[in-house]
Amino acid sequence: MKQAISSDFKLGILGGGQLGKMLTLAASNWDVNTYVLDPNPDCPSKTTATDLTVGSFNDYDAVYAFGKDKDVITVEIESVNIEALRKLEEEGKQVFPDTKALSIIQDKGLQKQFYSDNGIATSDFELFETTADIRTAIENGTVTYPFVQKLRTGGYDGKGVAVIKSETDLNLLLEGKSVVEQMVNINKEIAVIVARNTKGEVKCFPAVEMEFNPKANLVEFLFSPAAISEAHENEAEQLSRSIVEHLDFVGLLAVELFIDNDGKMFVNEVAPRPHNSGHQTIEGNVTSQYQQHLRSILGFPLGSTAITLPSVMINILGEEGYEGNVVYDGMEKCMTVEGAKFHIYGKKITKSFRKMGHATVIDKDLESAKKKANYIKEHLKVIA
Ligand code: ADP
Repeated sequence: MKQAISSDFKLGILGGGQLGKMLTLAASNWDVNTYVLDPNPDCPSKTTATDLTVGSFNDYDAVYAFGKDKDVITVEIESVNIEALRKLEEEGKQVFPDTKALSIIQDKGLQKQFYSDNGIATSDFELFETTADIRTAIENGTVTYPFVQKLRTGGYDGKGVAVIKSETDLNLLLEGKSVVEQMVNINKEIAVIVARNTKGEVKCFPAVEMEFNPKANLVEFLFSPAAISEAHENEAEQLSRSIVEHLDFVGLLAVELFIDNDGKMFVNEVAPRPHNSGHQTIEGNVTSQYQQHLRSILGFPLGSTAITLPSVMINILGEEGYEGNVVYDGMEKCMTVEGAKFHIYGKKITKSFRKMGHATVIDKDLESAKKKANYIKEHLKVIA
């Protein structure tokens, strides 16, 4: 492979959202040239990538044409055109993660099947073609309340997920091929970011704990480290290692896990890229998840994942009910919070609960960091 840290090396990234932006920033520290494909000419990576190609990462021709002259191709979103990537792989291009892993992860049904085939703990599930089939299974008693229905493809941030507690929720069922999962009595939701490089070296970041916005069903706060036992920490790490090894995965994988009220751990789902649950690694760990992703796909040794200081990450979400040109109200007050680092993604338009940025508060004491993060939540309002 061409030397990655050299003036003529081209790293192609499918997707130019905030994850792409932070990846391009990390690459720029090493003088690695980044080329991004995104349909939005004003996407967050616009100002940070070496070059932006405007086009759809779901379109065969656009992805194939984009990939042709790149040295390594990676993704910051999993819903990309696999056929074009497969063709590029066949022609000898390095695509990390590879299309075998991406095609399993793209489809929540294949993902669940992969866990059960490889003895990786996950909630019981069944695959369905239509909502009519689910209703029949309920009548036959093979599906029982409560359960969670997930569309096999296209969902994100809680979209494409329906929680069905009883018959009265059946109108919430989503049409399309789906997975029906047994409802887990969740005590904690945690995540582990794991990296595996081209030589098979594996490293996990310590687990983090997520707290959700009850209305938007997406992560509001993230705490690092997670308040879990050493046994749970080890179990989470073992599950994460087992997934990347069974997938023969190269790159960064975010593993979302549940711990239930009986202390049992289940894999919920994975994402084959940098992830919201690793933002705090930029300030709170020796190596950031973005640097680790680059190390893993560019053939370098993996960096230390140790925590340097406890941290709380808060997603800066569009205020409910506002849509239009974005205004960050209260920023001046929040800038006085000691240890708070702000990342504003550069999206021009805000919408209810849209992820517009994040802040990480680092502090010797996690409880103090939580208080500071709450201050930011109360004072920083993303309005139009
Ligand atoms: P997305 O890909 O949209 O983030 P997830 O699969 O992570 O979808 O589901 C979103 C949220 O729904 C989870 O974070 C969790 O709170 C809840 N959830 C998902 N699956 C289950 C389950 N089997 N039991 C209980 N809650 C679940």
